[in-house]
Amino acid sequence: MQYIHEAEIAIAAAKQAASLCESVRHSVEFASVDKPDRSPVTIADFAAQAVICYRLNQAFPKDAIVAEESAALLYESPLQLTKVTKLVQSFIPDATPDQVTAWIDLGQGKVGERFWTLDPIDGTKGFLRGDQYAIAIALIESGEVKLGVMACPGMDELFMAIRGQGTRRISLKTGESQPIRVAAGNCLAESVETSHGNPDRQRSIAQAVGLTSRFQMDSQAKYGAIASGHAALYLRLPWVQNPNYRENIWDHAVGAIIVEEAGGCVTDMNGQPLNFSIDPQLIENRGIVASNGMIHEAVLRAITQTNIQDDSEQLAS
Ligand code: AMP
Ligand code: MG
Repeated sequence: MQYIHEAEIAIAAAKQAASLCESVRHSVEFASVDKPDRSPVTIADFAAQAVICYRLNQAFPKDAIVAEESAALLYESPLQLTKVTKLVQSFIPDATPDQVTAWIDLGQGKVGERFWTLDPIDGTKGFLRGDQYAIAIALIESGEVKLGVMACPGMDELFMAIRGQGTRRISLKTGESQPIRVAAGNCLAESVETSHGNPDRQRSIAQAVGLTSRFQMDSQAKYGAIASGHAALYLRLPWVQNPNYRENIWDHAVGAIIVEEAGGCVTDMNGQPLNFSIDPQLIENRGIVASNGMIHEAVLRAITQTNIQDDSEQLAS
């Protein structure tokens, strides 16, 4: 079967990264630093990216990797680099600081015909809070996500999807594995960070399509909730104060295949497919709509209707 070798390597890498992240999360002291865009990053983000890039590059040396982190901050901070190297050594005992920065920077590859995209810790804010986060690894080939592997240590799950072969949930503790499917339901999933979406508009759309409950969750774990039938809809409409924000491919590629292969549907807010193959950002797309498929058309119609309302409110004011 196609992509089985890729899946085995990505699962092994995601599991190692997950146990590395959990060991950091349970350690007595660890801190985050802010990147230039003011988003947080921890030693676990860097170490997880180093381990995953090393594993992918060993198995598939020709494949490019497009990942969230770069080693730039570590070059300025030898103390942080020492801590990151120690963490990486728990899986790759003879790793040196120079190798660690080189492995992290393997993630600065370019989008192309076949490449991996990964987020070593998606939802770093959730990781810091002790809530949900995800280790997200996707393979993109000929413009299509072919494989997605997402470890969610906070829920003891790993989700895995191969194009045309369905989505599975694998327990991180026992290894028990089962296929999962979307389900009808009445629940909306949203980000914990309200500035990553437009909660008021999201909730009025959910209400318009008959959803009566909602929950907030960090990271692409929300896609896992749709794929396993715990939520019917995940909406991520542009934040009003930053309407031109473009989503990163590593924040959605894995989630998209996990939902699609479980029978759901993922588009942008205009009903367009997400285009992962032209840039590290989804420059052609705005907003995200991930659903169980059954309510997708109704959701897109409700978005168009609230667009018209927004326009007429603006004209009236
Ligand atoms: P979530 O936990 O679903 O909100 O996703 C976390 C991701 O949101 C991070 O990895 C960031 O890349 C991304 N992010 C940061 N700022 C924004 C924004 N203004 N709108 C949407 N997503 C954002
Ligand atoms: Mg992320």
